[in-house]
This record gives sequence, structure tokens and C-alpha cells, in this order.
Amino acid sequence: MNIKEFRKHAHEAADWMADYLDHIEQYPVKSEVTPGDIIKKLPETPPQKGESMKSIMEDFKHIILPGMTHWQHPGFFAYFNANNSYPSILAEMLTATMGAQCMSWVTSPAATELEERVMQWTAKMIGLPTTFSGVIQDTASSATLCSLLTAREKQSDYRINDQGLYGMKKFTVYCSQEAHSSIEKDVKIAGLGKDNLRKIEVDKDFAMIPRALEEKIQSDLKNNRVPLAVVAAVGTTGSTAIDPLKDITEICLRHNLWLHVDAAYAGTALLLPETRWMIRGIEMADSFVFNPHKWMFTNFDCSAYYVKNKEALIRTFEILPEYLKTKEGQQVNNYRDWGIQLGRRFRALKLWFVIRNFGVKGLQQKIRDHIQWAQELKKEIEDADDFEMLAPTPLATLCFRYKPKGIDDTTTLNKLNADLLDRLNQSNQIYITHTKLDGKYSLRLVIGQTNLTRKHVSDAWKLICKTSKKYGD
Ligand SMILES: *Cc1c(COP(=O)(O)O)cnc(C)c1O
Repeated sequence: MNIKEFRKHAHEAADWMADYLDHIEQYPVKSEVTPGDIIKKLPETPPQKGESMKSIMEDFKHIILPGMTHWQHPGFFAYFNANNSYPSILAEMLTATMGAQCMSWVTSPAATELEERVMQWTAKMIGLPTTFSGVIQDTASSATLCSLLTAREKQSDYRINDQGLYGMKKFTVYCSQEAHSSIEKDVKIAGLGKDNLRKIEVDKDFAMIPRALEEKIQSDLKNNRVPLAVVAAVGTTGSTAIDPLKDITEICLRHNLWLHVDAAYAGTALLLPETRWMIRGIEMADSFVFNPHKWMFTNFDCSAYYVKNKEALIRTFEILPEYLKTKEGQQVNNYRDWGIQLGRRFRALKLWFVIRNFGVKGLQQKIRDHIQWAQELKKEIEDADDFEMLAPTPLATLCFRYKPKGIDDTTTLNKLNADLLDRLNQSNQIYITHTKLDGKYSLRLVIGQTNLTRKHVSDAWKLICKTSKKYGD
């Protein structure tokens, strides 16, 4: 391909992009293919000779697209959203075009300094204290790993980095039973051992019980363990439960424990001052993470990681071989030392485009709408005779189940709801997922897609009601 052809194909691709987004509701939201359908259409050996863009694009449309789940479809109510938006997509195009690798300040000064600035903006936007420094990570899983590694190094006076874990004290880590699976994964990777992760009991609202945390710490201390860190969830993945941060910070302070706050989904809601109660006590935390790539209309991946003590983070990860030394040295941020990977994408650009194009007010309006529509739907579910809510709805994620009159048996209800979920997803109009709360199979509907309207939500509810009725017959 030469530059002239590139220009032509780029224009065509831009047209395809706009058409796709314009007509996205005509696609089945969830891919209908079965395992192996796609791979069998792909040749076993790569082409020896270059192929035309025309034939590559044809295959993209006819082989790849049918195997895609359309995450930007307003009928996407599954998992948590991974949203994009027009300004974010445009920034990704520019990022791809420049193709810069932003490991150090010198490898693209603007990427580093823009990242520093947008992380400061974002902190202000969500009400984090100005004492926190931010860095963009790929995912919350990685950010939490960075946090646990920093805690481990700080506690061991940075000796584990040098000597390994052999002969070290047995550390323990704490999170709630409802905490995200990435915490267990991170504990394993950090060499702390998943048997040393304590999953603390939750209350009826699925939030950590501080008294149970305190008791577990006490019993570990008695058994010669070294309590290391607590990971508090502000918005669990199952039901968006909010752990009581203030009480947890007091326990951490008393026992000198590291505190990491995982607000991967719910962090975006902090754009609204009325939700800031969720992070009361945050000034006592050591680190905090939330994902603009979930609910803040920024293309995957973009996870905002904040730390109170950036020196501890850098000391944990810093490495300086001869070939990476630069004359600016310590005067500048070299974000390669703020996390695991050396090479880094220019992720700050899309966040900057999003914040500037929506404006803080524009972002707030979208989040406020989503929460409002979720609260309206919650009311409808509560008022419906044969549905019930299974968890509080502090934000815009609803956990509920179909419960026709006269059926009380959990096993029967679980099966009924699993079947209902299948039927709903076979409709091709909406995609929702499930969780289990207290042993109860729960439908889980997340209101957060960028271009969603109130009508999409009410259509989804109508479809759920209609589908459940058919089932009853
Ligand atoms: C989504 C989620 C994660 C994992 O996010 P990644 O960025 O995909 O690693 C972690 N914690 C919570 C509470 C989440 O909702």
C-alpha cells in the first residue's frame, strides 16, 4: 500500500465506522456464532503474497463482524460496559497513526505531560484529594497488582525485590467475599499465596463487615501472621456494594495496614458530588483505582491508578539499565517506573479528548441520567408482582429475579431465571448477564452504554416482562 492508497482506504474506513455506529441497533447485540465457526473460515496458513485491502475488508465484514458482540449497542446491559464515544474513537485513530511508544518522558514528552495533567483533572473531577498522584494503567487488575506489590515492598523495607519471598514472614491480605476475582489473581502473582487472602464476611447489602475484618486481623496476629493490606471495594462487581470505607480506614490505621480502594466501575459515578459519600475517608487510603474504560466513555483500555506515595511506587518498579538513562533523569516522570510494563501506549490522548469534548457537565449529565433511569427501573421491578430486587441499587446496576407467585424454592427459581436469561439473550435485542447473591441466581442489568436513552431501558424491561410471561404459559 502506498500513501495515496492509504488515504483512500482511511476515508472508506471512516465511512464504515460512522455507518456501523449509526446502524448498530440493526446488529444482534450478542454474537450468535458457535465455538469454532470463525476459525474454520480462516485459512490455516498465512498468505505468501500481499492481498488487496478490498478483499481484507470483505472478510472483515463477512467473517469477523458476525463473530463480534456489539458492546456499543444500546441493548448491551451485560457485565459492565466498556464504552467508547466519538471523541475517544477519534483520539484512538490519531494515537494509532502516530504509533508512539511512551515509556519515558523523552520518548514523547507530550504523552507524559498530558498524562500528568489529565490525571490531575480526573482526580479533581471525582473529588480525590490533591495529595494523590495518578498514572494510567491498562486495567484495574494491573493497578491492584501494583498496589499489592508496593505494599509488600514497603512492609519488607524493599527486601523482597532483592531477596525474594524465601524465609519472609507470612503476610495476609483482606478483601470481602464479594470482591473482584482480580484480587485473588493479584495475590497469587505477587507471591503472597491465595491461602493467605482472607475473604471477609458481608452484610445483607453485600458490603464488608468491619467487625469481621477486625476479628480476622486479630486472629491472624495471634497466629504469627503479618497482616499486610486491605482491598476495599467501592462498587463490587456482583451488585455494586459499597464497603464502609471510613470504618475500614480506622482499622487499617490501628494495625498499620496498606489500604487499596477498588472502584473500577463505580469510580466514574464520583463525577457527581451527591455520590461522594462512597469514598468518605479516602484521604487515609494508600491507593485507588477506577476505569474510565468502563463507564467514562473512553475506549478500552484506560485505568486510572492513584497513589498517595509515588516514591514508594517508583521505588518498587524502578529499573535503570544503561540504555534507558536520559539526561533529564529525575526531573521528569518516566511512567515506565510507575507500573509493570516498560512499553506504554499513549492512552492519555483519548481521555483528554473525552473530557474536553463532553466537558465535566456533559459527563455528569450522562452518568446522572443512567443512575436516574436505573432508579426508575428499580421502582418498576419492585412494583411488579412477579419480580423482586435482590440487592440495593446504589448506582445503575440492577440485580433482580423473576419470582412468580407460589414459587419459593431456590433451586426452582434459579433454574427459572437461568432459562429466562437464555431466552432474553436469544432475542438478539438485549444482552444481560447474571450473578449469584446469597445462593440466589440473579439477573444483572447494567445501565451505562454511551448512547443509551430512557426508551432503550423501558424497551428492555418490556421485553423482560413479555419473555417471562411466555415462559409462565
Ligand atoms: C471490572 C472490575 C475489575 C477488573 O477490571 P479490569 O480493568 O478488567 O482488570 C476489578 N474490580 C472491580 C470491582 C471491577 O468491577
